[in-house]
Amino acid sequence: MESWCNALWKKWERVEARFRQIRGLRITLCPEMKCFTTFRIGGQALALLDVQNDEHLEEVVALCEENQIPWRILGRGSNILVSDSGFKGIVLRLRGDFTDLKRLDESRVEIGAGALLKKAVEFCIQHELGGCEFLFGVPGTVGGAVLVNAGCFGGEIGNLVERVLWRNEEGQKEWKDQSELCFSYRYSNLKRKNTVILRVVLKLFPQATERSWEMVGTFSSLRKSAQPLEWPSAGSIFRNPPGYYAARLIEEMGFKGLRLGQAQVSPKHANFIVNLGGATASQVEGLMEWIRREVYRAKGILLENEVEVWK
Ligand SMILES: Cc1cc2nc3c(=O)[nH]c(=O)nc-3n(C[C@H](O)[C@H](O)[C@H](O)COP(=O)(O)OP(=O)(O)OC[C@H]3O[C@@H](n4cnc5c(N)ncnc54)[C@H](O)[C@@H]3O)c2cc1C
Repeated sequence: MESWCNALWKKWERVEARFRQIRGLRITLCPEMKCFTTFRIGGQALALLDVQNDEHLEEVVALCEENQIPWRILGRGSNILVSDSGFKGIVLRLRGDFTDLKRLDESRVEIGAGALLKKAVEFCIQHELGGCEFLFGVPGTVGGAVLVNAGCFGGEIGNLVERVLWRNEEGQKEWKDQSELCFSYRYSNLKRKNTVILRVVLKLFPQATERSWEMVGTFSSLRKSAQPLEWPSAGSIFRNPPGYYAARLIEEMGFKGLRLGQAQVSPKHANFIVNLGGATASQVEGLMEWIRREVYRAKGILLENEVEVWK
């Protein structure tokens, strides 16, 4: 355990027994975050807790807050860069009840925020519901996708969302319907400190299963030809500035293939930084800062992170 963790570790030792009393809660101590992110980068966190139901979530959050232990929700870890010194707190994953998939009626499904998008799309297709095929290849959870309004191929998950059950800043569970939700490019008004998306209702439309699988096939081929899926990454590193594509700006600078240690600007897609094996977060951040500075110097456009950095 790193030295930063000494004070936090002492706190943990004082309350560990209380966490261990929570029946069915899976606890992994000092998880290497590189094992839980698609970038395969990141030092240790204090603990990783797999919460299976509402009771777990409430008890865990109450214990963390009572003891001033920072906590965060981890989805699939596909949009984060965890620092080399790790995350100074507890990481919670939504499992069990939070991965349920339910068909509500002829056009709507209710999905637990911890479910993988791929599973959710498969479920909808099996129920002859169409409209979400573009999300099949986004390697995150439903909660993570709704939080940042994930999108591709001209679609965004926010356009499908009818209602969201969340745990708000005051710790209350409430449904928010369309009129209270606000989605725009990689943004939702659900992104606030210590809030948790719990369940999501999507509105789709009837569509033959074969047609949906055909669309998934087309989107998957497009993704495979455009993105370096053979290497660990966190997807697009920078947001597209208004009126521009970040990938094009970086490519125009001649940065494709640029390397810092084992972190490389993908030769296939300039807005992806890939981990060639053993890359560190500081190498990725170094490359990001270099790109940001040079693009700003040459074009006067400041690139903002799409990837979220956890320290
Ligand atoms: C190869 C590759 C391709 C990608 N392609 C796309 C793409 O086409 N379009 C796109 O938009 N993105 C893409 N991404 C990025 C990423 O998959 C999405 O941003 C995804 O929505 C992140 O979901 P996650 O579950 O992995 O979230 P994480 O990365 O685990 O977390 C991201 C943020 O969401 C928060 N969070 C997660 N779950 C919850 C919850 N239930 N409640 C509250 N907060 C939560 C986390 O605390 C964190 O702040 C790609 C990534 C990769 C690696």
